[in-house]
Amino acid sequence: MTVRTRFAPSPTGLLHLGSVRTALFTWAYSRHHQGVAVLRIEDTDLERSTPESVKAIFDGLAWCGIDFDEGPYFQMQRMPRYKEVIQQLLAEGKAYLCYTSREELDQMRAEMEARGEKPRYDRRWRPEPGKTLPLIPAGIEPVVRFRNPIDGVVAWDDAVKGRIEISNTELDDLIIARPDGTPTYNFCVVVDDHDMAITHVIRGDDHVNNTPRQINILQALGAAIPVYGHLPLIFNADGSKMSKRKDPVSVVDYQDLGILPEAFLNYLARLGWGHGDEEVFTVAQFIEWFDLANVSPSPARFDREKMLWINQQHIKAADNARLAELTRPFLAKLGIEAGPALVEVIALLKERVTNLVDLAAQASYFFRHDAAPAELAAQHLNEEGRARLARLRTALTAIDSWDVPTLAAAIKAFVAAEGVKMPLVGMPLRAAVCGTTQTPSIDAVLALLGKAEVLARLERTLA
Ligand code: GLU
Repeated sequence: MTVRTRFAPSPTGLLHLGSVRTALFTWAYSRHHQGVAVLRIEDTDLERSTPESVKAIFDGLAWCGIDFDEGPYFQMQRMPRYKEVIQQLLAEGKAYLCYTSREELDQMRAEMEARGEKPRYDRRWRPEPGKTLPLIPAGIEPVVRFRNPIDGVVAWDDAVKGRIEISNTELDDLIIARPDGTPTYNFCVVVDDHDMAITHVIRGDDHVNNTPRQINILQALGAAIPVYGHLPLIFNADGSKMSKRKDPVSVVDYQDLGILPEAFLNYLARLGWGHGDEEVFTVAQFIEWFDLANVSPSPARFDREKMLWINQQHIKAADNARLAELTRPFLAKLGIEAGPALVEVIALLKERVTNLVDLAAQASYFFRHDAAPAELAAQHLNEEGRARLARLRTALTAIDSWDVPTLAAAIKAFVAAEGVKMPLVGMPLRAAVCGTTQTPSIDAVLALLGKAEVLARLERTLA
């Protein structure tokens, strides 16, 4: 059997991190089993679906490097097929027309609630042997209802949550087509999962209530029942629900925070899944290790610090040239166009940051000379500091081979000659040349900046 999974997002907003986690697990499961991953866009909610959201899904998946083998299929393009299956179920007596009006449904509900019952449709239009159906009222377009089994249970072994059993008495005769003939959500999902020969439905826990209804319809279609695995929801670190307004929840938010795609996937993988003590891993390793059996059914908690730590590990491991290209847009946001030396700059700085925003900020002084802020200047570029820098400038001017060992030796000799401790030279030097004291080893910074630039910056500061 070939494993076939699907990721079936609704294009109704930005691509949410929970959706990316679902996409990742779906995709990794099929990759692990040399199966097929299908992408299906569930765009039947015409009021909420937008082309921008479809684009956000494609862009977000591309950024993450999650590539599908089949699709994208668009549900709106499959309408004739859904209608065909509705006709088939009607013809087979597995679905029926229901003319109950809105008012009648409201009345039904009120009466049942008054009797202390759970409100439900009373199946008044459901044909049964020997039953007389109501007269078809004028002026009402019927809905189509699925003839749900009355007795027994729907049961499945959820690959994440374990055995689940729902009594059919809990399930109404689901509306599968609206009065205008358009199919409803659960029905389209079922027809698609069947037609697309999906073997494993991996999706968020918020869909677990749909599963018994979908299984009943699949059974009516004579279809094979896929394996279902419902992934735990993702909450904030404090256990509160993630909010689209307050919390970064979309892929774009994480791009803006300077998270690497491989780190994003690494972190998402750990939300509800684990492989021993492994914290930092590649996508290839994740695919190798991934199994639904290791997904936890309990809700996962999003931990921003942990994500940044994982990002830091991936930044350290990343190729410098690639990192430089990824950092360029963040430098551009600071108004900085970096030259080719950016790769060396990145090599020098990458151990010191947890994200690309900070990397760009720290790289900025290599490409632009900003004067030290007043407070820093008062501390390090006071009279004493400036006098010392003037003497240091003379020593640096005399250097012929401008490289790290020579610079290190020259600074060391200067410190000895001044009879002070290293910071009394290093800090004014950093403040003057870099506009900040937060830099890596100053000899390495000076070497990269080049002699002319360093002397020009000292000149400007001391002027
Ligand atoms: N379209 C649904 C969603 O975006 C997913 C449906 C499914 O996976 O069955 O939540």
